[in-house]
Amino acid sequence: MIAILPSAADPCNLPFPLKNPKEPAMSDSGVKFQPRESIEQVEEGSDLAPKFDDRGLITVVTTDARSGELLMQGYMNAEALARTIRTGEAHYFSRSRQVLWHKGATSGFVQRVRELLVDDDQDCIWLRVDVEGGASCHVGYRSCFYRRVPTGREFGATEVDGRVDLVWTDTEKVFDPEDVYGDAPNPTIL
Ligand SMILES: [Zn+2]
Repeated sequence: MIAILPSAADPCNLPFPLKNPKEPAMSDSGVKFQPRESIEQVEEGSDLAPKFDDRGLITVVTTDARSGELLMQGYMNAEALARTIRTGEAHYFSRSRQVLWHKGATSGFVQRVRELLVDDDQDCIWLRVDVEGGASCHVGYRSCFYRRVPTGREFGATEVDGRVDLVWTDTEKVFDPEDVYGDAPNPTIL
């Protein structure tokens, strides 16, 4: 989904990398992240001290809170994470457009966060969400993972000179992207 918020687009300004690594960093939406001081603090403590990469991003995986289905993988910058915490609705950072994006603001398929988890070293976020209308993929499917790659014996039986033939696991779109997005450019970059 490609709803775009007017926002400072540079992920590196917001607020990572830290100007002063010893000070907590306050996001624009008033959520504070702690500096990463020790392994014990990061792994066993109650501080939220997320590790953003050198582009200022952290990986996010999003599952359906009820079915457990993997819906999508994306990224957040510090402000997207802060807004998700503040509002209880999923915000991501679009790498193709370099903007913060409130998921579902255009399509109406907002992801309401039931649970936001962080992993042991705090470099990955897991969102468990309810999706109004039931779609998370801009292609129109419920999940971004609507095709599988045959493996092992099945691959051997279907390959032609090693070429992989994807198999659809979901054939029904929840919505028609043209109806929802019209002429907006596709976020998939070749
Ligand atoms: Zn998708």
